[in-house]
Amino acid sequence: EEELQPVFKMPRTNEAMPSYTELVETQRKFFRSGETKSVKFRKQQLTKLKLFLEENREALTDAVWKDLRRRHESTDLLEVSMCISEIEYFLKNLDDWAKATHVEKTFVTALDKPVIEKDPKGVVLIVSPWNYPVSMIVLPLIPALAAGNTVIVKPSELSENVAATFEKLIPKYFEPNYISIVTGAIPETTELLKERFDHILYTGCPPVAKIIMAAAAKHLTPVTLELGGKCPVIVESDADIDLSAKRVAWGKWVNCGQTCLAPDYVMVQSDVKPKFIQSMTKYLREFYGDDVKASKDYARIINQRHFDRISKLLDETKGAQLIGGERDRADLFIPPTVLDVEKTDVFMHDEIFGPVLPIITVKNLSEALEFIADGEKPLAAYIFTRNEAKVKRLVTETSSGGITVNDVLMHMTVDTLPFGGVGVSGMGRYRGKFGFDTFTHEKAVLHRGFFGESLLSSRYPPMSQQKLAQM
Ligand code: NAD
Repeated sequence: EEELQPVFKMPRTNEAMPSYTELVETQRKFFRSGETKSVKFRKQQLTKLKLFLEENREALTDAVWKDLRRRHESTDLLEVSMCISEIEYFLKNLDDWAKATHVEKTFVTALDKPVIEKDPKGVVLIVSPWNYPVSMIVLPLIPALAAGNTVIVKPSELSENVAATFEKLIPKYFEPNYISIVTGAIPETTELLKERFDHILYTGCPPVAKIIMAAAAKHLTPVTLELGGKCPVIVESDADIDLSAKRVAWGKWVNCGQTCLAPDYVMVQSDVKPKFIQSMTKYLREFYGDDVKASKDYARIINQRHFDRISKLLDETKGAQLIGGERDRADLFIPPTVLDVEKTDVFMHDEIFGPVLPIITVKNLSEALEFIADGEKPLAAYIFTRNEAKVKRLVTETSSGGITVNDVLMHMTVDTLPFGGVGVSGMGRYRGKFGFDTFTHEKAVLHRGFFGESLLSSRYPPMSQQKLAQM
């Protein structure tokens, strides 16, 4: 058993700011060489990316352990294996997705060939967060490469061990004119954002997303923004309450609540609450034992700033603590905490992004749905019920990035579903073909010959009523 050590973050030294113009130019030059256009080349690179993950499983899972104290096996499953299966899915489908598609013709183009060409966009920038630091780099990287782009990745400085691992290992597999890792914090990212990219995918929080979008606007660069929000859970009395509590507990406390899709709060009616809390207590003990702090399965808060943010809310909440315990700042530890709160509680203002689960008591489903619809659009919404009509109401009466019924997080694992937010939870989408399309320009190409002139002869001047009648 490894000794549990608190994670200390090194302050950054104040070295001179590099310019990224040359790096972007080098990538653009390589893109212009046309090498990335070949689907064979792209498949070779995806295979190499898979090899990078397979050969460095230990280094990557270890880096996440150092950054988040998340168990190696969990990272292997949640991040590395997920990325590998995504690559395999792309390798299987890429020929099909990348080929030009022939589309239906109109009467006047009956002799022509209208085709949609799948053009790569060019130089892509991916800016990643710290919470799933490996997959939040690799999952967007896969479609960007598959679509034939070159990529610059800016990992989060908060997950510094993962950032350093990518910085060290990626150059062993890829040339910098194809994939480059740029490490650094706000000053470096600010500098990087001055450059002209052909697409930017940013994963993180809404305030920074506005900075990214404003920088992209200067060059009219398209953006995909993968953000967060307060993902609600509704548990109805007709559901399997025990299993609902188990699934919510898993999705809430995996990675210590620092998951963009994590249940942010739960809404129940008063008859459901006691059983739900009782089951949740039981499963928390089953998952993490009596001493959560000693459990290898319970991750830590990323840093002291985030610890203090959640701690302050815990001090200010008016809610009653139903489950919880002692916090430890030096160890960045906050135990699974469940609160009985009102809708106006401090925990109900912003995305919690930590191990605290507020429970709100509602009178009925309508009240819960209205509360969701009144707030900002979340990245995900969840409902536990056996009643299809209730599910339909959540689907039609609220807006969110996605929905899983009778579970949490799971819609993200389906390659054939788009992943992304709506409103404040983001714009654009990726995963599977949706990712390929995000990093592709669908270019309309109409092939014509020199025959069939009579079909379009009426377009030529001089115009006349007679010609108009023919059109
Ligand atoms: P973060 O603080 O690491 O920021 C993300 C990136 O933005 C980093 O690379 C960082 O260097 C950069 N950045 C930060 N401030 C900047 C600035 N002023 N200018 C330019 N760049 C800047 O991560 P975070 O924002 O704390 O991440 C957590 C958020 O991400 C949560 O809201 C979570 O819900 C969301 N998230 C969303 C998804 C998704 O797929 N939709 C996935 C994971 C996390």
